[in-house]
Amino acid sequence: MAELSYFWHGPVWRQLEAYLAQDRLPHALMLHGPRGIGKRHLAYALAERVLCEHGRACGRCPSCNLLTAGNHPDLLTLVPEPGKPLTVDRIRELIDALTLTPQYQRGRIVIIEAADRMNPAAANSFLKTLEEPAPDTVILLLCEQPSLLPATILSRCQRLQLTLPPLSEAEQWLVARNTPSGQARLALALNGGAPLAAAAWLDSDAPQRRWRFLKTLEKLLAGQGDPVVLAGEWQDEPLEQLVDWLLTVAADLVRLRYDDDGSLINTDCQGWLQDWARRLDLRQVFHFWQRLLNLRQALQTQLNRTLLLESLFLQIDRLRHEQTQIETGNPVLDHQG
Ligand SMILES: [Zn+2]
Repeated sequence: MAELSYFWHGPVWRQLEAYLAQDRLPHALMLHGPRGIGKRHLAYALAERVLCEHGRACGRCPSCNLLTAGNHPDLLTLVPEPGKPLTVDRIRELIDALTLTPQYQRGRIVIIEAADRMNPAAANSFLKTLEEPAPDTVILLLCEQPSLLPATILSRCQRLQLTLPPLSEAEQWLVARNTPSGQARLALALNGGAPLAAAAWLDSDAPQRRWRFLKTLEKLLAGQGDPVVLAGEWQDEPLEQLVDWLLTVAADLVRLRYDDDGSLINTDCQGWLQDWARRLDLRQVFHFWQRLLNLRQALQTQLNRTLLLESLFLQIDRLRHEQTQIETGNPVLDHQG
């Protein structure tokens, strides 16, 4: 933590600096905030600062070298498998590791990612670690939703909240990374306003996949192509992603129907959406949106994803049949903004 990496970390970073300056870093710190805000980055920056032999993340001492190589013995990390809870076995492994004394003189840092995914048994087991903290050890819990954790755990952690920067400042930050402002705005809208999530999205092939998906939607709404065949083309895309994209489109259709284009998400196809917002039956769009929201919840459980995707595409096909205004020709999707 030689310097501040992301400006929106400022308030939390200054608080951490103050703790360090007074040599009273709490033994359990919770860094919480939305996905894509840089919680992990901040936790590692703090670890570098604490474990560096010169106390300033010098980047040259043996401790810093071990951190760079990713094998510092006094930095313990716990990361649940994607989409899985953090189980008691993993917590027990951590507790065992904490019985050993740190190998260097700078104490020890534990980083627990997605700590809000601890299941009840894991949380119960972890509570003892918080009640009887290991000496010279700072535990950093990272999470999006602290409220998912028991109050007994929350009350034993010092909580530091990372908040999203204002959209205009996040947009400027992306533009400074050579992103055209239209794309920056779109990426932020699609990623909950989180700058790092937006940047990662722009650096991936997600923008191209999303556009290809919108082209599929264009075909469905225009009645060009069999919904089941089109669904088959999207079997490899995570259903969560498809549902999220559809949610943004459905929400935009409702917004545009109410002439609210200020909070539009899919700003790069506003004209196309506007045409469909005018033609489609608003009640049906609203039902579809509700169904997507319910489905988003249900996706945590085992479902037949192929059937679900087909039924979603068939429902979009039905939206077309229930147009309030049948007009000649179909709205054409092309890049704007
Ligand atoms: Zn160092």
